[in-house]
Amino acid sequence: MTTNPLLDFSDLPRFAAIKPEHVTPALDVLLAEARAAVAQVIAAGGDDWDSVSEPLSDATERLSRAWGVVGHLNSVMGNTEGLREVYNAEIPRISAFFTELGQNLDLYARFKAVAANPAFANASAARKKIIDNDLRDFRLSGAELPDAQKARFAELSSRLAELSSQFSQNVMDATDSFSLYLDDVAELAGIPEDTLALYAAMAEADGQPGKYKLGLQFPVLFPVLQYADNRALRQQLYEANAKRASEFGPAEQDNTALIRERLVLAAEEAQLLGFANYAELSLYTKMAESPQQVIDFLRDLAARAKPYAQQDRAELEAFARTELGLETLEAWDISYAAEKLRVARYAFSEHEVKQYFPEHKVLAGLFSVVHKLYGISVTARDAETWHPDVRYYQIHKDGALLGGFYLDLYARDGKRPGAWMDDVRGRRVKAGQVQTPVAYLVCNFTRPVGDKPATFSHDEVTTLFHEFGHGLHHLLTRVDELGVSGISGVEWDAVELPSQFMENFCWEWDVLQGMSAHVDSGEPLPRALYDKMLAAKNFQSGMQTVRQLEFSLFDMLLYSAANPHSIDWLVLLEQVRDEVAVNRPPAYNRFPNSFSHIFAGGYAAGYYSYKWAEVLSADAYAAFEEAGGANPAVGHKFWDEILAVGGSRPALASFRAFRGRDPQIDALLRHSGMSEPATA
Ligand code: ZN
Repeated sequence: MTTNPLLDFSDLPRFAAIKPEHVTPALDVLLAEARAAVAQVIAAGGDDWDSVSEPLSDATERLSRAWGVVGHLNSVMGNTEGLREVYNAEIPRISAFFTELGQNLDLYARFKAVAANPAFANASAARKKIIDNDLRDFRLSGAELPDAQKARFAELSSRLAELSSQFSQNVMDATDSFSLYLDDVAELAGIPEDTLALYAAMAEADGQPGKYKLGLQFPVLFPVLQYADNRALRQQLYEANAKRASEFGPAEQDNTALIRERLVLAAEEAQLLGFANYAELSLYTKMAESPQQVIDFLRDLAARAKPYAQQDRAELEAFARTELGLETLEAWDISYAAEKLRVARYAFSEHEVKQYFPEHKVLAGLFSVVHKLYGISVTARDAETWHPDVRYYQIHKDGALLGGFYLDLYARDGKRPGAWMDDVRGRRVKAGQVQTPVAYLVCNFTRPVGDKPATFSHDEVTTLFHEFGHGLHHLLTRVDELGVSGISGVEWDAVELPSQFMENFCWEWDVLQGMSAHVDSGEPLPRALYDKMLAAKNFQSGMQTVRQLEFSLFDMLLYSAANPHSIDWLVLLEQVRDEVAVNRPPAYNRFPNSFSHIFAGGYAAGYYSYKWAEVLSADAYAAFEEAGGANPAVGHKFWDEILAVGGSRPALASFRAFRGRDPQIDALLRHSGMSEPATA
């Protein structure tokens, strides 16, 4: 068995050795092992942590870690021959196992016995929280349902997992399957040189030297929308992007039927458990109390933001008309006109800023911020990875190893779009031995071309800080129990607190000085450029805010809908836009068909979490502003009360412990430039 690298849990995953043919045999072993552990726990009839929770957590941890590696590889190396097939084929088996675990009444009885054991009153807060969560999850897995409904519930869980996987694969395929080769560089006028070099390198890699390859991966697409003077080209790519995975493309990539099936099945699942709709089920485990509370929160914020958004739109329209000769501001003009307006008003371009952020300098700057805040050191280490671009780092404090992370920065074919953090393994202490946590940090930034280092836009730098914040939440935990250490067990709508919190440092002068060096001259970011960036920071923040609110409100209303069989989500989206939006996309726009967050990720009836957590993160960062910046004393308090405790107590309690009061919305409004009245 030791020949199967997926069964080697001695340390980090053996990425160089793992092949698709290892997946099924490894799962055979791990599923059998986990089932044997369940049988053993039930047969022993124990009523304490060591005889119930611990052995079960051991067995499921091995299964989850191995399956986590497979899922990760599917996300970052999805074009590996045979990987996607075996991943898809195994989803139902994994999902069936966890469903049967969650519905196992004999096992449920053991957990109830642990909770009822008088000795358990003396258990640690972490263990109490885990048992509480476990009992809740048994109920939410249908453990208390009659047998006939249990079987249906299991079918639903399995099918929903398949739908998620299929949805995101369709988005990936639809994104990758569009390409456009251009011969004439004149058609790409306005696009910066380094992006043209990227397009040329992509064409060359496809055996078409001398041409330029365009595509829909974000760092490839966005420069066209933002810079290309060629309006027809912008329109062509905008349209291709807006129609991804819809009825306008190949039937096998169309997500329309998958959305309908998800809405219907998710509602059925919720109703089996006694909830009125899926939104109620989703919020049951979150910090927010009810769909109505969330809808009220979003509408309140929309009412405050919309006047700013209307003002942003009016300014952009006027500028496009008078300065760019665009009589109507179309969807494919917005990024382009916005960039031109930004340059006109603040006299700098994002491309200019980008020259100051070469990769090595940005990473060094990030590591220096967390050193100042928390006294931790980040160092590169050798490790097997899944791609030559990937690096591995360790985090130490006073010589002690706290954890490690993989960094996979660049966009490439076969890699799921976006940026994310995921866990490789969580922290736990077992028989006196500490298992240090390990995380994946994945981005889709522009890769280096030729001899030049990769340079990042300020947005990309911010994204890196964001994902690193998730990473620190996972890696700086001090909880000894797997179920609530790091990000495990943290409420979804509070998970973005530590990540969005980190973004704030990307706007601090001292921090930017330390992490910038012009790619040619080596000069740090000049003060004059920084002042312009700061002045531009809240450029169109009203428009950006209402866009987030549009997605959030659409998500919450969709999953609260009483009629999932018949609801027309495009009509609902239009109604939401009537209420909060200022930009109206063309009728062919099928944004929902690639809205993976809510149809494939964990954000179903949870997209509001970004804004919700932004209230928390802005208010938490205000504590640093009050102390004059990256203050180590405040840093350590943040570590102690927020990062270290993970899911071992409710997020609201952690926030109160750090801030000494309930969250307030004022800091978010101030950071977004929305604390003064909008001026028309
Ligand atoms: Zn995040």
